Amino acid sequence: MAQTDSDKNERRPARISIIIPMYNEERTVRELWRRLSAVLSGINFSREIIFINDGSSDGTLEALKDIAGTEPDIKIVDLSRNFGHPQAVTAGIDMARGDAVVIMDGDLQDAPEAIPRFIERWREGYDVVYAIREKRKENVLKRGAFYLFYRIQRRLVQIDVPIDAGLFSLIDAGVADTLRRMPERNKYLPGLRAYAGFRQTGVPVERNERFEGAPRVTLYRLFGLALDAIFSYSLIPIRIATVMGGIISTVSLAIAVFSLIFRLSTGETLLGWRFGLTTAFFMFGVVLVFLGVIGEYIGRIYEEVKGRPYYVVRELYSSATASDSPLPDENTGDP
Ligand code: UDP
Ligand code: MG
Repeated sequence: MAQTDSDKNERRPARISIIIPMYNEERTVRELWRRLSAVLSGINFSREIIFINDGSSDGTLEALKDIAGTEPDIKIVDLSRNFGHPQAVTAGIDMARGDAVVIMDGDLQDAPEAIPRFIERWREGYDVVYAIREKRKENVLKRGAFYLFYRIQRRLVQIDVPIDAGLFSLIDAGVADTLRRMPERNKYLPGLRAYAGFRQTGVPVERNERFEGAPRVTLYRLFGLALDAIFSYSLIPIRIATVMGGIISTVSLAIAVFSLIFRLSTGETLLGWRFGLTTAFFMFGVVLVFLGVIGEYIGRIYEEVKGRPYYVVRELYSSATASDSPLPDENTGDP
């Protein structure tokens, strides 16, 4: 697009929503707000900041309420218990009313300072601007696991999920609306975001260390999310079973015919019982693995059919001074 064109079509936001899931982030809240508000003070249009308290057992909710008591434009969605990161983010997306919605973690691994760059690209006409993780400041094992995961996932999933792109992103209201119309459980949000389509682009952003403490997402849940990212987007694991079944049957038949001929012509046994037993056990293993694969799909169908609410809101809070109408657009051009 020519420069003059993009100037003409540049979006003028009326309001931006920022959604931040929080689970036991009591000790990060202040610093998060300090950095976020510093960034926001440089952006002169209307905003709402939506914190989702995902059933924290520490003082996160109180700390958030403290800030909301003195600062405008803050909303707090208090969930009825701990549901998990994708649920908390979904609650935020459902609440957000902005023309652009920023999704970021509340542990300062996602640097708020990147937001103006996201907005810049959005104004140029992109509907999804996601952070490409430049450097992961996590331990080698986890980094390696992520490296493998992103690449396996990319192989198996037919939609083009950008590599090393996490959830830290800005999405246009239209994309947010599309996400709201994907009512499935077992959500892998970066996948759904890619699935939504629209014009997407990445911006390199360094992934920082956690401000405090250990990750709140347990390894168990992280593993579950990785499975979702594959089984909710791809039927290839089942097809592998079909293809493998075909190959194994053909090879076995060939071996059977060959050993029969061998026996008839030489009078000796080609493959003894040891071979037979080992092969049988190996095949039990393969069959069990694929039973598990089928189980993964059935389990997901079961989850969907139950149709339970994906998250439950206990209460909503908003700053006393929060204005629901967008500020007049006195925007002079630069955010
Ligand atoms: N989080 C949440 N619910 C959970 C676990 C985490 O809302 O059950 C929040 C957490 O407070 C943080 C964000 O989700 O703001 C990312 O969590 P974490 O840092 O533990 O995940 P990681 O960075 O390891 O992926
Ligand atoms: Mg984190």
